[in-house]
Amino acid sequence: MTWISTHRPAFFVCCLLLCAGCAPSSPPPDADGGAAPRWALAIHGGAGGLSRDGIDSDREAAIRAALEGALRAGVESLEGGASSLDTIERMLRILEDDPLFNAGKGAVYTHEGTHELDAAVMRGEDLATGAVAGVRNVKNPVSLARLVMEQTEHVLLVGSGAEAFANEMGVALVEQDYFYTEERFKALERARRAEREPDDKHGTVGAVALDQAGNLAAATSTGGRTNKRFGRVGDVPIVGAGTYANNQTCAVSGTGKGEEFIRHAVAGSISKLMEYRGSSLEEAARELIHGVLEPNDGGVIAVGADGSIAMEFNTEAMLRGAADSEGRLEISIW
Ligand code: ASP
Repeated sequence: MTWISTHRPAFFVCCLLLCAGCAPSSPPPDADGGAAPRWALAIHGGAGGLSRDGIDSDREAAIRAALEGALRAGVESLEGGASSLDTIERMLRILEDDPLFNAGKGAVYTHEGTHELDAAVMRGEDLATGAVAGVRNVKNPVSLARLVMEQTEHVLLVGSGAEAFANEMGVALVEQDYFYTEERFKALERARRAEREPDDKHGTVGAVALDQAGNLAAATSTGGRTNKRFGRVGDVPIVGAGTYANNQTCAVSGTGKGEEFIRHAVAGSISKLMEYRGSSLEEAARELIHGVLEPNDGGVIAVGADGSIAMEFNTEAMLRGAADSEGRLEISIW
């Protein structure tokens, strides 16, 4: 009897360990010869309405700190091996609970003085999507959107149907006055006086991520636009307009004038330019934001299947952050 046959299990374990030791410890190089990130993510807190002259330094610091908190939570998740879907949901719930952003707690007012929230998630692996529109009593619409994706055969539930589904799923429901914030209420009063949707609608939140398994995901959540008509649905829950993910190309979340994002199918077009024309993520994002949309329409954050990150906008500001496994971690506004 040979040593191998008597010690077979131990022998194979040793072989496995040796082979694991031979495997490259760093990820394969990207097109530029640098190491391609094992994971990457980006986050936004809305575009438009902010100007350098009009923002006080305390508020700017609070926005930066809130974005950084959510971004670091995402970094911890991806670094720990969590899926891109779990990661973006976690980040968006943090921002939805923060009154600084126009999503969840800080949602803007409709013309009638109510709140109607939209959200969507999309998984790049199989193009699975879930979205809700016009929900009035759901504390974290991003999680309800995920439940639509995972627990129904549908893609989009609206209004009272979405609320009934939320009830069935046992998600946290709140009264409308939960969404009261003085700042948003004053914005509505200003808008009513001016009889239009004002430009100070920033704060929609979005996140995109590539996880260690190579899966992309995107999510976006918003209160929409101040002084909007009740019943108005924006780009956020429309697949391919404000939210899109496809493992072959990229994950995208947009912010800005929802009607323009719907007209130009912005998020999906970025993916299609990559797929059909072979554009890089950055080229595709630049083309949509600077070549197709009008100045001041908004912006996108996007992560490519190769871990590249694009953050393009044509407004004065877009609250944003990005991080990857190669040590990138940044928060920017202007
Ligand atoms: N895109 C959002 C909407 O139109 C608003 C925003 O991003 O500021 O509902």
